[in-house]
Amino acid sequence: MFEPFSSEPERINEYLKWQEIFNFEGGEFYQNNPILQEHMSDKPLNMRNFLLYHGDYARANKVLTKFGVKALDKIPDRYTISGNKITFNYVTPFFEVRVNPNLYVQTIYEIYQIQFFPDVIKKLIIKGNGRGIFYNGKPTDLAEFAEFRGKKTNYEPYYPFDDCWGICDFGSKTFVAQPHNNIGFHEFAHLSDYFVGKVLFGDFLSENSLVKSDFNKLQGGKFFGEFCETSCEFLARFMEKYFSRDFEKKILYNQFSHTTKFLDDVLDSLVKKY
Ligand SMILES: [Zn+2]
Repeated sequence: MFEPFSSEPERINEYLKWQEIFNFEGGEFYQNNPILQEHMSDKPLNMRNFLLYHGDYARANKVLTKFGVKALDKIPDRYTISGNKITFNYVTPFFEVRVNPNLYVQTIYEIYQIQFFPDVIKKLIIKGNGRGIFYNGKPTDLAEFAEFRGKKTNYEPYYPFDDCWGICDFGSKTFVAQPHNNIGFHEFAHLSDYFVGKVLFGDFLSENSLVKSDFNKLQGGKFFGEFCETSCEFLARFMEKYFSRDFEKKILYNQFSHTTKFLDDVLDSLVKKY
């Protein structure tokens, strides 16, 4: 997949193509791919100079190691409540990328964000053949999601699947996400709910009574301004905050102590067992 250039003219051509698409100057290549510049941060706009491109596929670990994220700071380790180490950088899931070239940068950024899920969770999802597709059209356009065409979610207000930004299908263990606003991160949280719950409890984490007790307390059904239709949606939104690098976790302990402690325990059991 990531073949080196066979000749110098080929390398230059590839370079010019990238320059045209992304309007960038300078930059180095690793094999066929522009790489992130040392001085850049992980801000989406600054990621313009680093990009993957190969057919329809982007393998996150290539992107995340060879093409950039390794040039960014390593995501710091954390520790579980009993002091076991949680790492974030050593396991990288595979995603399929079916997006317009002008959305590659955003897509990579979305993939990068998913790296903030602990390695132990990513490992379980990979082992269980969970996968994600980034696609910038109607999710139901894809053959994999054809069964959702013209249908609506089975909870109020019954959104049409055709209009969703992302769908997570637990039957095929696959999500599709628009490369937009951390939709992939949200869908990855749904996969985590499923895979982690299955191995530890034989059921979704969001079916746990501790999670449900916090879900039932939501004022107007809202979790930090976002409406949660089901405990499954609640937990996915909760995990977005819980695993976010920016969100102050203390707020979660104060307002949703059951779910926060539950996830702390879940992580502790996971790193002990896997
Ligand atoms: Zn959702």
